[in-house]
Amino acid sequence: MIVSVSDAQKRAGESFPIALEESRAPETYAGKTLTFAAPVSVSGTFSFDGKSFHVTAQAKASYEAVCARCNKPFVETLTFPIDEHFVRDVVWEADSDVYPYTHEQLDLWQAFSDNLFLHLPLVSVCRPDCKGLCPICGADRNETPCACQNEIGSGAFGALQQLLNENKEV
Ligand SMILES: [Zn+2]
Ligand SMILES: [Zn+2]
Repeated sequence: MIVSVSDAQKRAGESFPIALEESRAPETYAGKTLTFAAPVSVSGTFSFDGKSFHVTAQAKASYEAVCARCNKPFVETLTFPIDEHFVRDVVWEADSDVYPYTHEQLDLWQAFSDNLFLHLPLVSVCRPDCKGLCPICGADRNETPCACQNEIGSGAFGALQQLLNENKEV
Protein backbone atom coordinates (compact mmCIF):
# COMPACT_ATOMS: atom_id res chain seq x y z
CA MET A 1 0.00 0.00 0.00
CA ILE A 2 2.65 2.44 -1.26
CA VAL A 3 2.27 6.15 -2.02
CA SER A 4 5.10 7.81 -3.90
CA VAL A 5 5.82 11.25 -2.45
CA SER A 6 8.85 12.42 -4.43
CA ASP A 7 6.86 15.20 -6.13
CA ALA A 8 4.93 16.24 -3.03
CA GLN A 9 8.15 16.55 -1.06
CA LYS A 10 9.21 19.41 -3.33
CA ARG A 11 5.79 21.09 -3.26
CA ALA A 12 4.95 21.63 0.40
CA GLY A 13 1.40 22.74 1.13
CA GLU A 14 -0.05 21.20 -2.01
CA SER A 15 -2.59 18.43 -1.81
CA PHE A 16 -2.14 15.19 -3.77
CA PRO A 17 -4.69 12.45 -4.38
CA ILE A 18 -4.51 8.89 -3.04
CA ALA A 19 -6.44 6.13 -4.79
CA LEU A 20 -5.27 2.65 -3.89
CA GLU A 21 -6.76 -0.79 -4.16
CA GLU A 22 -4.92 -3.88 -3.08
CA SER A 23 -5.48 -7.57 -2.39
CA ARG A 24 -4.12 -8.50 1.01
CA ALA A 25 -3.34 -11.70 2.86
CA PRO A 26 -5.18 -12.32 6.16
CA GLU A 27 -4.17 -9.87 8.87
CA THR A 28 -3.83 -10.70 12.58
CA TYR A 29 -4.05 -8.11 15.32
CA ALA A 30 -4.24 -8.80 19.05
CA GLY A 31 -5.15 -12.44 18.44
CA LYS A 32 -7.93 -11.69 15.95
CA THR A 33 -7.44 -12.65 12.30
CA LEU A 34 -9.30 -11.00 9.44
CA THR A 35 -9.55 -12.72 6.06
CA PHE A 36 -10.28 -10.19 3.36
CA ALA A 37 -13.05 -11.10 0.93
CA ALA A 38 -12.19 -8.36 -1.58
CA PRO A 39 -9.35 -5.95 -2.29
CA VAL A 40 -9.03 -3.24 0.38
CA SER A 41 -9.06 0.38 -0.75
CA VAL A 42 -7.98 3.83 0.36
CA SER A 43 -9.00 7.12 -1.25
CA GLY A 44 -8.16 10.61 -0.08
CA THR A 45 -5.32 13.10 -0.13
CA PHE A 46 -1.88 13.71 1.30
CA SER A 47 0.26 16.82 1.66
CA PHE A 48 3.70 17.78 2.94
CA ASP A 49 4.11 20.56 5.53
CA GLY A 50 7.88 20.72 5.27
CA LYS A 51 8.40 18.19 8.07
CA SER A 52 5.78 15.48 7.82
CA PHE A 53 3.20 14.09 5.45
CA HIS A 54 -0.42 14.31 6.46
CA VAL A 55 -2.74 11.63 5.06
CA THR A 56 -6.51 12.02 5.27
CA ALA A 57 -8.48 9.29 3.57
CA GLN A 58 -11.46 6.99 3.63
CA ALA A 59 -10.56 3.32 3.80
CA LYS A 60 -12.69 0.30 3.00
CA ALA A 61 -12.30 -3.36 3.90
CA SER A 62 -14.56 -6.37 3.27
CA TYR A 63 -13.77 -9.41 5.36
CA GLU A 64 -15.22 -12.72 6.45
CA ALA A 65 -17.36 -12.54 9.57
CA VAL A 66 -19.85 -14.70 11.46
CA CYS A 67 -23.23 -13.30 12.44
CA ALA A 68 -23.62 -13.06 16.22
CA ARG A 69 -27.37 -13.73 15.93
CA CYS A 70 -27.78 -16.50 13.34
CA ASN A 71 -24.23 -17.94 13.32
CA LYS A 72 -23.97 -17.70 9.53
CA PRO A 73 -20.75 -16.65 7.83
CA PHE A 74 -21.10 -13.47 5.78
CA VAL A 75 -18.93 -10.73 4.30
CA GLU A 76 -18.86 -7.59 6.41
CA THR A 77 -17.82 -4.30 4.81
CA LEU A 78 -16.39 -1.54 6.96
CA THR A 79 -15.45 2.00 5.95
CA PHE A 80 -13.33 4.07 8.31
CA PRO A 81 -11.18 7.20 8.25
CA ILE A 82 -7.40 7.38 8.19
CA ASP A 83 -5.96 10.64 9.51
CA GLU A 84 -2.25 10.17 10.19
CA HIS A 85 1.14 11.86 9.97
CA PHE A 86 4.26 10.29 8.51
CA VAL A 87 7.76 11.41 9.47
CA ARG A 88 10.89 10.42 7.61
CA ASP A 89 13.09 7.79 9.26
CA VAL A 90 11.45 8.17 12.67
CA VAL A 91 11.58 5.03 14.84
CA TRP A 92 8.10 3.54 14.95
CA GLU A 93 6.61 2.44 18.26
CA ALA A 94 3.19 0.94 18.78
CA ASP A 95 1.94 3.91 20.83
CA SER A 96 3.54 6.53 18.59
CA ASP A 97 1.23 9.10 16.99
CA VAL A 98 3.31 9.30 13.80
CA TYR A 99 4.34 6.64 11.31
CA PRO A 100 7.78 6.43 9.76
CA TYR A 101 8.59 6.51 6.09
CA THR A 102 11.81 5.96 4.22
CA HIS A 103 13.07 7.24 0.87
CA GLU A 104 10.23 8.80 -1.14
CA GLN A 105 7.49 6.36 -0.21
CA LEU A 106 4.75 6.16 2.39
CA ASP A 107 3.61 2.67 3.20
CA LEU A 108 0.03 3.12 4.40
CA TRP A 109 -0.51 -0.47 5.45
CA GLN A 110 0.38 -0.13 9.15
CA ALA A 111 -1.90 2.91 9.45
CA PHE A 112 -4.65 1.11 7.50
CA SER A 113 -4.42 -1.98 9.70
CA ASP A 114 -4.29 -0.01 13.00
CA ASN A 115 -7.35 2.04 12.07
CA LEU A 116 -9.21 -0.99 10.74
CA PHE A 117 -8.88 -2.93 13.99
CA LEU A 118 -9.73 0.21 15.97
CA HIS A 119 -13.03 0.50 14.10
CA LEU A 120 -14.02 -3.19 14.06
CA PRO A 121 -17.51 -3.64 15.51
CA LEU A 122 -17.65 -5.60 18.77
CA VAL A 123 -20.27 -7.90 17.29
CA SER A 124 -21.00 -8.56 13.63
CA VAL A 125 -24.59 -8.94 12.49
CA CYS A 126 -25.34 -10.18 8.95
CA ARG A 127 -28.14 -7.62 8.50
CA PRO A 128 -29.83 -5.18 10.86
CA ASP A 129 -33.09 -7.16 10.92
CA CYS A 130 -31.54 -10.62 11.33
CA LYS A 131 -33.98 -12.58 13.48
CA GLY A 132 -31.33 -14.98 14.77
CA LEU A 133 -31.70 -18.55 15.97
CA CYS A 134 -34.60 -19.73 18.11
CA PRO A 135 -33.19 -20.28 21.62
CA ILE A 136 -35.53 -23.26 22.09
CA CYS A 137 -35.40 -25.34 18.88
CA GLY A 138 -32.34 -23.74 17.22
CA ALA A 139 -34.18 -23.00 13.96
CA ASP A 140 -32.94 -20.05 11.88
CA ARG A 141 -35.85 -17.65 12.27
CA ASN A 142 -34.89 -15.91 9.02
CA GLU A 143 -35.73 -19.11 7.13
CA THR A 144 -38.01 -21.22 9.30
CA PRO A 145 -40.79 -19.71 11.32
CA CYS A 146 -41.07 -22.07 14.29
CA ALA A 147 -43.90 -22.47 16.77
CA CYS A 148 -41.72 -21.82 19.81
CA GLN A 149 -42.36 -18.08 19.84
CA ASN A 150 -45.99 -18.54 20.81
CA GLU A 151 -45.06 -20.99 23.52
CA ILE A 152 -42.61 -18.52 25.04
CA GLY A 153 -45.35 -15.89 24.93
CA SER A 154 -47.94 -18.04 26.66
CA GLY A 155 -45.27 -19.38 29.02
CA ALA A 156 -44.32 -15.92 30.21
CA PHE A 157 -47.94 -14.89 30.40
CA GLY A 158 -48.79 -18.03 32.27
CA ALA A 159 -46.06 -17.39 34.82
CA LEU A 160 -47.31 -13.83 35.29
CA GLN A 161 -50.86 -15.07 35.70
CA GLN A 162 -49.68 -17.54 38.32
CA LEU A 163 -47.80 -14.77 40.16
CA LEU A 164 -50.93 -12.63 40.21
CA ASN A 165 -53.00 -15.53 41.52
CA GLU A 166 -50.47 -16.21 44.26
CA ASN A 167 -50.59 -12.56 45.29
CA LYS A 168 -54.36 -12.72 45.47
CA GLU A 169 -54.19 -15.66 47.80
CA VAL A 170 -51.85 -13.83 50.22
ZN1 LIG B 1 -27.63 -13.19 11.00
ZN1 LIG C 1 -38.13 -22.62 17.77
